[in-house]
Amino acid sequence: MNIHEYQAKQLFNTYGIATPFGKVARSPGQVEHLFEELSGSRWVIKAQVHAGGRGQAGGVKLIETSQDAVDLAEKLFGSQLVTKQTGEKGLPVESLLIEEPSDIKQEFYLSLLVDRSTESLVFIASAAGGMDIEAVAEETPEKILTTVVNPAAGLQPYQCRKLAYALKLSGSQVRELEKIMRGMISLFQEKDASLIEINPLIETASGDLFALDAKINFDDNALDLHADISELRDPAQEDEKENQAQHIGLNYISLDGNIGCMVNGAGLAMATMDLVKLKGGEPANFLDVGGGTTADKVSQAFKLILSDGGIKAVLVNIFGGIVRCDVIAQGILQAVKDINVSIPIVIRLEGTNAEEGLKLLNESDLSVVAAEDLEYATEKVVELARSE
Ligand code: GDP
Ligand code: MN
Repeated sequence: MNIHEYQAKQLFNTYGIATPFGKVARSPGQVEHLFEELSGSRWVIKAQVHAGGRGQAGGVKLIETSQDAVDLAEKLFGSQLVTKQTGEKGLPVESLLIEEPSDIKQEFYLSLLVDRSTESLVFIASAAGGMDIEAVAEETPEKILTTVVNPAAGLQPYQCRKLAYALKLSGSQVRELEKIMRGMISLFQEKDASLIEINPLIETASGDLFALDAKINFDDNALDLHADISELRDPAQEDEKENQAQHIGLNYISLDGNIGCMVNGAGLAMATMDLVKLKGGEPANFLDVGGGTTADKVSQAFKLILSDGGIKAVLVNIFGGIVRCDVIAQGILQAVKDINVSIPIVIRLEGTNAEEGLKLLNESDLSVVAAEDLEYATEKVVELARSE
């Protein structure tokens, strides 16, 4: 789960990570009000959406008068902010963060995440902050600094000093960086985060370190343990279908293509999407119906996939282990009957009761292509999607 920048900054403050002073507004009227209340005439207005790249998209602006603030607020509220991280529809702007402007001397990148290969938390840092870190990693990998936190020993002071010197920090900034890194680790562990990213972490003209931006992802599987975090959820920023899927207990991610995929098992789902792409198709989604699924769940999953208007064909790829293929076939038939499907469906069933499942499908009067072989199935679905 993602949260907004202003929420992440509040969490930062409770963990001793300094951020610029700011307040949140939810309407142009509130913006005007805040301007009267806050002293000083220059402020930064930041659109709150669950995506980065807002700066380049006009979602982060320095304004100097109350009138400019209200004008900008009126433009932003109710709009969809499109950044390079949002997709073409963008995300709705329903709150603005109004912040004291910072006098930036330098921008750094600092994040904390789990490195599975070392089974540790790892800090990623760079003096090339404020930019797209993926691009930095690709074009100038030598500018990326990693610090692995040994799970038994914890973060060592020398590691913080080493990173601070590599970023050319000095004096009290070295201690300040250590404080920020320790705050990030505590927050990460206590709240079961999966990523904390500060981009940029800034050095101000007076030499202080501030988190100018804040992004935190939380582990969905641990949210039941953290009511204070769960309540920060903002469904307006999330994909409606992904939310629905989560309710039903499905693992679903929306993608940009036109071939709906229904698969059991995340690994098989990845392999299926790879094959679809290899055959020249574009998957519309990632959907793992899970290992021990039921006909009802399959039917719901099917409806979910088809509720996407751009779908041209559906590929069902089930490997029956615990789940029986005849149960899957029943679920598909049920769904197809309920919602009057008019696009082609290719089904590959393999494993437990595959023959019975295929028999059910073949005996029905529905136009489904039953394939025993996955390669054939993906070729077929790509071809059908193309001719639709
Ligand atoms: P993002 O584009 O969504 O990642 O939003 P950020 O919060 O990272 O802001 C984007 C950029 O705007 C930063 O990298 C800064 O260069 C600039 N910016 C944001 N706040 C301030 C500020 O208070 N002062 C100055 N000078 N620049 C700012
Ligand atoms: Mn940023």
